[in-house]
Amino acid sequence: MTIAALIVAAGRGSRAAGTLDVPKQYAGLAGQPLLTRTLAPFLSEPAIAHVIVVIHAGDAELYRAAIPSGGGKLLEPVHGGATRQASVLAGLAALEAHRPQSVLIHDAARPFVDRAIIGRVIGALKTSPGAIAAEPLADTLKRATARQTIGETIARDGLWRAQTPQGFHFEAILAAHLRAAAEGRSDFTDDAAVAEWAGISVALVHGSSRNVKITTAEDLAIAGTLLSQPLEPRIGSGFDVHRFVPGDHVWLCGVRIAHTHRLEGHSDADAPLHALTDALLGALGDGDIGQHFPPSDPKWKGAASRLFVEDAVRRVAARGGRIVNADITLLCEAPRIGPHRDQMRAAVAGMLGIEAGRVGVKATTTEGMGFTGRGEGLAAMASATLLLPA
Ligand code: MG
Repeated sequence: MTIAALIVAAGRGSRAAGTLDVPKQYAGLAGQPLLTRTLAPFLSEPAIAHVIVVIHAGDAELYRAAIPSGGGKLLEPVHGGATRQASVLAGLAALEAHRPQSVLIHDAARPFVDRAIIGRVIGALKTSPGAIAAEPLADTLKRATARQTIGETIARDGLWRAQTPQGFHFEAILAAHLRAAAEGRSDFTDDAAVAEWAGISVALVHGSSRNVKITTAEDLAIAGTLLSQPLEPRIGSGFDVHRFVPGDHVWLCGVRIAHTHRLEGHSDADAPLHALTDALLGALGDGDIGQHFPPSDPKWKGAASRLFVEDAVRRVAARGGRIVNADITLLCEAPRIGPHRDQMRAAVAGMLGIEAGRVGVKATTTEGMGFTGRGEGLAAMASATLLLPA
């Protein structure tokens, strides 16, 4: 699936204007233009082939200053229209030549988007023509009367706050936008609304409470505080063992490897991913894998162990932290790990939402000694470093 990202940065930000000397998407946030920060996770996501930014015609110089090094997957910016909808359509039209199968549309004013959120939207597009990042509503909603007293309380069951990125199958969302433009509809407040109007089914996936939209100068100040919060390093370690039983393949670091045996376990018995999950939970001081995913729960029977890692990654994000690196050591006489090392590193990096250069996968035998030496089982150790708000 060829995926493109379209970043909408053409707005004039009237609600922030007056207090900022540049449009908010170019305002500095902890020493970086907001747009630069927003673009980074899309540019570093290997699944995304093209990134295009829709800018205001008057902002070309600001854009060049914010994004000095173009090239690679970043396409030349295009000029937006009078409304957000017109700007998105201009971006979609420019992407058409690159024939993407899917497109993620994202507001430049959401600089806290990360690879984990992007990955969830991309994942959902495999089974749905549309998918958006969103969060269930936590606040109770009140409808005000004309006198600004409470008229009624609105049940919040099933209510979600839409965020971006919003992903769609490319041909479907382009056709929907073209039809909306042709019919003079310009009142949709997001692309999911255009999709709904066109009858495209749109799935909701979890965004993040951090994935806020910077609308006012005050939001920008709060975001700056969030970023300037001191971080402290946290190191966690994990260890796991599974027994070899007759079979024909093993799962290690999310990679299926043909082997003379399989590893016995309730889940897919991917010992290195279990050790890695424990390393992340350990660094958080948040229990262990057995506590969060009890083997007694039939739900985890045969489960892909990447689910456990991804749960730990969400726990890191929920604490406002980020993963710096992870290092895994496998202890076994067989199978040979070397030929699969790079695939394993890429798989783990994908689960953690970090570059493969931050993931180590190593292996050693135990010189024929002990249970690993006798081929009775495989052991795995992992460590992970996090940065958490102090
Ligand atoms: Mg285990």
